Amino acid sequence: MAILSRRNLLRGQWHRSSTIRAPWSIAEEQFTDLCSRCHACVDACETGVLIASSQQAFPEIDFQRAECTFCGRCAEVCPEPVFRPIDTPAWQRVASIGQSCLMNQGVTCRSCQDECETGAIKFQLRLGTTAQPVLDMASCTGCGACIRSCPVQAIRVS
Ligand code: SF4
Ligand code: SF4
Ligand code: SF4
Repeated sequence: MAILSRRNLLRGQWHRSSTIRAPWSIAEEQFTDLCSRCHACVDACETGVLIASSQQAFPEIDFQRAECTFCGRCAEVCPEPVFRPIDTPAWQRVASIGQSCLMNQGVTCRSCQDECETGAIKFQLRLGTTAQPVLDMASCTGCGACIRSCPVQAIRVS
């Protein structure tokens, strides 16, 4: 399902509801109205997780490339009022692990746990089957480090 801002609809632009903006970004409709697409944030991003798919594109997060370290550089360099103060919570996103996880097929894999610095992913033993990954939502920062490590793209941050 697409989310449409009237102004962007008139410009013939829209974004997928799965699009993730940088941490501390304001609401999507205001963001796409106020962001000038100068891409200063993309250039400043220390991990390369923030991208612009073209010169006209709004910056967005691509967790297949990297994780977010919450360094705050994107917000600091931005000349437009599209970021909240970085001493406020970055976002409310957390990871979720889908059914395609290899452990559901009896294949042992703990790549995501190895990447998670906050220890938010634990493996729970279940009788007669392989251990299953369980996410502690309170510990997950939504950094996305686990996403790239998953060989079957079973993890999303939303
Ligand atoms: S907080 Fe840092 S790592 Fe995250 S998107 Fe912004 S510049 Fe990139
Ligand atoms: S998003 Fe970050 S904190 Fe959350 S489970 Fe993945 S690696 Fe851990
Ligand atoms: S990395 Fe992917 S396949 Fe491996 S345990 Fe984690 S969610 Fe499952």
